[in-house]
Amino acid sequence: MNQKYNRVYNFSAGPAVLPIEVLETARDEMLNYKNSGMSVMEMSHRSKTYDEIIKTAERDLRELMNIPDNYKVLFLQGGAHLQFSMVPINLLKNGVADYIVTGQWAKKAYVEAQKYGKINKIATSEDKTFSYIPDCSDLNISPDADYVYICENNTIYGTKFHTLPNTKGKILVSDMSSCFLSEPVDVTKYGLIFAGVQKNVGPAGVQIVIIREDLLRDDLPSWCPTMLNYKIHADNDSLYNTPPAYGIYICGLVFKWLKKLGGLEKMKELNEKKAKILYDFLDKSKLFKGTVEKNSRSLMNVPFVTGNDEMDKKFIEAAKNEGLVQLKGHRTVGGMRASIYNAMPIEGVVKLVEFMEKFEKENI
Ligand SMILES: *Cc1c(COP(=O)(O)O)cnc(C)c1O
Repeated sequence: MNQKYNRVYNFSAGPAVLPIEVLETARDEMLNYKNSGMSVMEMSHRSKTYDEIIKTAERDLRELMNIPDNYKVLFLQGGAHLQFSMVPINLLKNGVADYIVTGQWAKKAYVEAQKYGKINKIATSEDKTFSYIPDCSDLNISPDADYVYICENNTIYGTKFHTLPNTKGKILVSDMSSCFLSEPVDVTKYGLIFAGVQKNVGPAGVQIVIIREDLLRDDLPSWCPTMLNYKIHADNDSLYNTPPAYGIYICGLVFKWLKKLGGLEKMKELNEKKAKILYDFLDKSKLFKGTVEKNSRSLMNVPFVTGNDEMDKKFIEAAKNEGLVQLKGHRTVGGMRASIYNAMPIEGVVKLVEFMEKFEKENI
């Protein structure tokens, strides 16, 4: 519990915890943003003040992720779900794409893409309830595939690609919603990265897309809705229509917070430290058990079970009474899940593990 504001430790998978310093700044700037006399919520997205906000956000993101000049950064709407459609609509040329299905989100993207072309499932981990990342070093990549698709961190199942698939020269597309900015990435390995920000970066309603310039097209089918055309948004610097202006402002504050903290190398170090505390406990616990194969574990989402539904329920209730909330696993998996995103302080994880130890002693 954060004493000053009576805040709980929020382990929600998303919308999720944000850095307290960011919320404080947003509070301080709420009524009068930097002498503009108004809130960012009330501001024209065409004003000079707002232009500075969105440009600075983009600049800081580029710096944090070391995004090369030949990639565009777009701030869009529609959630990650809309990317499940935009990706195939914009990237299919031959009409063929290969999908690696490692969880619910990848599966949804795979099903949605089938509306637009011949979509192949080239690997999956569904045989073991998505509890691992399959070996993707030598997959049967389609010779005419326009891209290979992955969901890099599987929010629901708690797995993460620690090695990217060998796409044999094809463009890699990654849904990074739940690991975006959690560690450094080599952007040049991807054709397109997208992330819904409500997991690790900001409030729901903003979608960040990083796309290599040569993938922007003038020859999209005429039925493609204007708003689903990446090039329209790229040509208009994400200001083709009114963007999710306030959400982008909060993302910008989170980027500043990350820079001040020391960037993504430092963030990774902290995330590894936090995750280790929880995984080390799960590995020795007699009551709780992690559900993911060790070499596929996510740093962000940690699912675990007791093996007894009643005990799971009892634990979730008891934890809630201690200010440790949103620990219920996804409805399709059951058990528990602790999402320990960037903004979860280490004290939150320590407190969770201490409580799990105590609960174990009392219930075994
Ligand atoms: C949450 C999530 C989604 C869905 O995001 P929406 O913004 O609700 O559309 C997609 N992919 C991943 C990896 C997610 O974690």
